[in-house]
Amino acid sequence: MEVPESEELDRQKECVSLLSSCHSINQSEGASAVAMHSHTHPSSCAERKSQEEERYYVLGEELPFDEDIYHEFKGHRCISVHDIENTSVKDEDYWSKAPVSKSICGMLNSGLGGTIFLGVTDAGIVKGISLTQYQQDHLEASLEWTLNHYTPAVPSWRYCVQFIPVRSTKLQETSEVVKEKVNEARRAKKHHVAQPHYCWCDHDHCAQRSIGIIPMIYVCEINIHPWDAHGRTKKNNAQEDNLPPIPPLHLDEAGGCYIRQSCRQTRLCLNEVRQLLVHRVERHYVIKKEKLLEQIQFLQKLAEKHQVKFE
Ligand SMILES: [Zn+2]
Repeated sequence: MEVPESEELDRQKECVSLLSSCHSINQSEGASAVAMHSHTHPSSCAERKSQEEERYYVLGEELPFDEDIYHEFKGHRCISVHDIENTSVKDEDYWSKAPVSKSICGMLNSGLGGTIFLGVTDAGIVKGISLTQYQQDHLEASLEWTLNHYTPAVPSWRYCVQFIPVRSTKLQETSEVVKEKVNEARRAKKHHVAQPHYCWCDHDHCAQRSIGIIPMIYVCEINIHPWDAHGRTKKNNAQEDNLPPIPPLHLDEAGGCYIRQSCRQTRLCLNEVRQLLVHRVERHYVIKKEKLLEQIQFLQKLAEKHQVKFE
């Protein structure tokens, strides 16, 4: 279907204005994912991991924030477009079925990052997803597969996953939670990702249920880190020292390019991708030019003060 020219132009303007506003938010605040029932708000993935065991959600509670540019709620765990017919979630009609990958792509391309909460309804109600350790491993493998099939592939420092337990009530004690018995050798078994059928780990889950063992319920948080060409690379990988100063645009595993706008993602056409890249490059050099002018003015004042004359 042809998009009218005026509508196309409006979308491009919206896209550009979004980026302008996003940059200022990024510099002042950064992306924030709210940690439920935790004492502090972890800023890095390592901190988040270390606090994972201390945090929990409560079944049926409403999260104190809505979906926005940084937060997305999903009721299912279909990461890629190839998982979308996954029979394990087929009956949950009230849950949105857009693959999580589109939201990830949108948050990566905005450059701002954000958090996708799996196991939370569109209305922000915690339902959780019942997952064995093997199914958690599956989800991580599925995420890695999907992001490796982006163009360009997404480096591992841009994302991390956390499985936060869901308690039946606030009063439930940690000691009341029965720990799952995990066979480490079995964990090495390969998962069948990027296909719409049950994996061996889903059959395991069903088998456990049939003998009365109900796997724990979790909210899975997929954290997408904001683009940080300087700070993060200094600390981490040496091979990524030469990252471009502007966030790259990724195509998802199905070849779509999305950008997060308020509480949803918009698919960009080729022309919009081109305009966005041009805008980002221009903006980068405008900021650089302003900083250089400030430095010149400072040096000029210094020279006047010390009566230094330039030829
Ligand atoms: Zn599996």
